[in-house]
Amino acid sequence: MSAPTKTAGTPLMRQYARIKEKHTDAILFFRMGDFYETFYDDAKIAARELEVTLTSRNNGAAAEVPLAGVPVKAAEGYIRKLVQKGYKVAICEQLEDASQATGVVDRGVTEVVTPGTPLDEELLERERNTWLVALTEVGGDLGLAWIDCSTGEFGIAEPEADHLAAEIKRLEPAELLVPTEWRGEVGSRDVGVAADLIAAPRALDPVKEWKPELPVSYREGWRFDPELAETDLCRRYEVGGLEGFGLADFEAGIGAAGAIVAYVEEVQPAAAPVIRPPRPLLAAERMAIDEMTLVNLELLEPLRDGGRKATLLGVVDRTTTAIGARRLRQWIAHPLTDLDRIVARHRAIAGLVEDGIARAELAEALEPVHDLERLAGRAANGRATPRDLVALADTCRAVPVVRGVIEDLPGERWAELASRLQGHPEVVAAIDEAVVEEPPVTLGEGQVIRDGYDEELDEYRSARREGKEWIAELQATEREATDIPSLKVGFNKVFGYYLEVTKTHLAKVPEEWIRKQTLSNAERYITPELKETEDRILGAEERIEAREAELFAEVRIRVGEHAAELQATADALAEVDVLAGLADVAARHRWCRPEMVEHAGIEIEGGRHPVVERWLEGEQFVPNDASLDPEETQLVILTGPNMSGKSTYLRQIGLIQILAQMGAWVPAERARLGIVDRLFTRVGASDNLARGQSTFLVEMIETANILHNATDRSLVLLDEVGRGTSTFDGLAIAWAVSEWLHEGLANPMTVFATHYHELTELESILPRVKNYRVEVKEYGDEIVFLKRVRPGPSDRSYGIHVGRLAGLPDRVVERAREILRNLEEGEWSADQVPSLAPGELAPEAAQRGAEQTSLFGATEPHPMVDEYEDLNLDEMSPLQALQWLYRWRSEDGST
Ligand code: ADP
Ligand code: MG
Repeated sequence: MSAPTKTAGTPLMRQYARIKEKHTDAILFFRMGDFYETFYDDAKIAARELEVTLTSRNNGAAAEVPLAGVPVKAAEGYIRKLVQKGYKVAICEQLEDASQATGVVDRGVTEVVTPGTPLDEELLERERNTWLVALTEVGGDLGLAWIDCSTGEFGIAEPEADHLAAEIKRLEPAELLVPTEWRGEVGSRDVGVAADLIAAPRALDPVKEWKPELPVSYREGWRFDPELAETDLCRRYEVGGLEGFGLADFEAGIGAAGAIVAYVEEVQPAAAPVIRPPRPLLAAERMAIDEMTLVNLELLEPLRDGGRKATLLGVVDRTTTAIGARRLRQWIAHPLTDLDRIVARHRAIAGLVEDGIARAELAEALEPVHDLERLAGRAANGRATPRDLVALADTCRAVPVVRGVIEDLPGERWAELASRLQGHPEVVAAIDEAVVEEPPVTLGEGQVIRDGYDEELDEYRSARREGKEWIAELQATEREATDIPSLKVGFNKVFGYYLEVTKTHLAKVPEEWIRKQTLSNAERYITPELKETEDRILGAEERIEAREAELFAEVRIRVGEHAAELQATADALAEVDVLAGLADVAARHRWCRPEMVEHAGIEIEGGRHPVVERWLEGEQFVPNDASLDPEETQLVILTGPNMSGKSTYLRQIGLIQILAQMGAWVPAERARLGIVDRLFTRVGASDNLARGQSTFLVEMIETANILHNATDRSLVLLDEVGRGTSTFDGLAIAWAVSEWLHEGLANPMTVFATHYHELTELESILPRVKNYRVEVKEYGDEIVFLKRVRPGPSDRSYGIHVGRLAGLPDRVVERAREILRNLEEGEWSADQVPSLAPGELAPEAAQRGAEQTSLFGATEPHPMVDEYEDLNLDEMSPLQALQWLYRWRSEDGST
């Protein structure tokens, strides 16, 4: 960019250059009278994005300067538009009255509006947080911090590099803050320098792929320094150390936290938002849901169209309040792993499910609850409107009612929440005393402050009232005095108050009246007394407005001082609302309370898919059981034709597990579940609509990720993995993946839905593999999908049936059967080991089959057998016999 130099140009442009220098990453809105002007490249962007005219301005000695401006009055909309497009806008105001200034008016940036730090309500979504996310790397560890400026929420984590993408995806950042050194590594706006020695930017690759337009901001590396950050955070929260926040073991996370807090302060210098103390998100306390699972299980967003109702969030969201809706989102994205906490939530829901009256009472009590988190935030940063404060007071008044309902409910969770619900009577009183019951939306549009609240204000008001009364009486007194019956007192914006006389009575008009306006049929006059009174009224009005603004600001400050406590109450209210909503869903749709157990295992009776069940048209959802455990049924091979219900079954197990661990009841008759530490879902490439460019490579990368990261306590759901390549490749990979999951270091519970019928043969060689199929019945010419999952492999000749039903000639069908038989016969070896199974790398069971062939096969007896037959056992000592055995075993290499 052709930046203006400090020396060139007019004094004004030199001032511009000085300010712009500090805000190179933002579009500078430079206040000039009634306009915000943008210059140089900023002007080109503004003109393009806002569709305003690009002109130019003579920069004194230098060349023409590109220029584009927007009127101050309409600026809010323009700023919003730029921010929504991912730009940052620095607002540079005139800091002194232009008429008083000598030389160039003093100017300075009062606020930078960025995508991740908006306070403007129009830029916020009611049911979603707007996260600013900071990321750094310290000594190989990743540090992540996130803040919602509108609610004051502040989180910290140190995710594994493998989990970073999922973590960021879950947050859906509106803006990402990273060290300047990473420039060119993230975001598409400024790809340039390669710094591929830094691991963290590479860990961000999936993020780039997911959201290439994610706005990225850079700050110098030292701002992410953990030590500096710690000092800064301690000072800010007035604590001696960060241990109290559970951050004792954090380092990189604290670095990110320090940078993010400093950044928020930097962009909001005038009214920094209230940020509550940071809460660590410990990986061990949450079920890890990887990125693809989040997408494929449609937890928060639908895969295709279908909107919100196609998502888990959509069917479980029965919250009443915005705070509850946002909290529910967080719960779904971060199910718990702590048994006690999970059970406490289940128990809390039980209390409401069993008590329909309490449920109804609670719903009613929550009705008047507004977005307390954001209202309190706005009070603190001086943005709350009169209506906001009234809503805030109404909310506080509702709190004791909510508390009254939950206090008596069974379960320690309710007691704990009740103890955190404060009514904030001092805040309510401050608002009630000062603000009228139904104020206008904004100041200056009607009465905001109550009569009797402030003497000064009352005086102005009575002055105005008296003036108006005098004028109201004027019509009567003057009619009598002048004897003009049609005389009228009126008001217009140009002349103010006037006396109007029709032409027929002009002769009677007193001399001292001053004529102001002539109409076709009348004349308008003013008198000195009339103008005097008018001035009194207008003066009073001006003072009323100013005094109201002053008083309102005072009340807002008093309320704002309580923002942190108000937000703490909001925090408890959010949970109450989520639990109430989940209880409502459970009661309404006959969900059951899952029994949570210490050991690994999944037992579901009559399980349903919460979303499919809800939106099935015309058909009844067929419930299915599921059973997985590490000892007997670790790996389920699920077969069935297309459209038989495999994917639905698979997903329903995952969804039930997530629901249970987030603390909800589940769509089933009965469920007994162990805690799952990680949930993985993979969908074979051609079934995978989540990514446009779905390739077999992507599928394999993701599968590799599972094989590396799954543990014995994980749940793995594989849907047609291997499908993205040729049949033989795919089958071979599917087979090897299954073996690995069964025989490898970790043996996660797995359900593998597949159309590779050959995989069912694994059951015969691997002890913890069980076959299940989705039943299909054929009635005459019709195939009926029963959607029932039963033990055993599916009928493999099904494809040929379909061919027949579709009208393939009989000879073709018969020939197909013959070929199938040939293939089948070739598939099993003489000793009943599937021909796919043996091999040097095969697990023991398959190997056993192979060894049997060489040991006892008819063709060539094993040398050991020869020697064995020659042994003279009578002459051997027990030790010699044992040595013989040892020798053979070591020769065999199988010691
Ligand atoms: P597959 O993966 O075997 O091709 P899907 O799971 O995609 O089959 O299911 C096919 C269709 O059957 C879907 O439209 C789904 O709504 C419906 N469906 C699946 N499972 C059930 C069930 N248990 N009860 C009723 N309908 C079901
Ligand atoms: Mg499917």
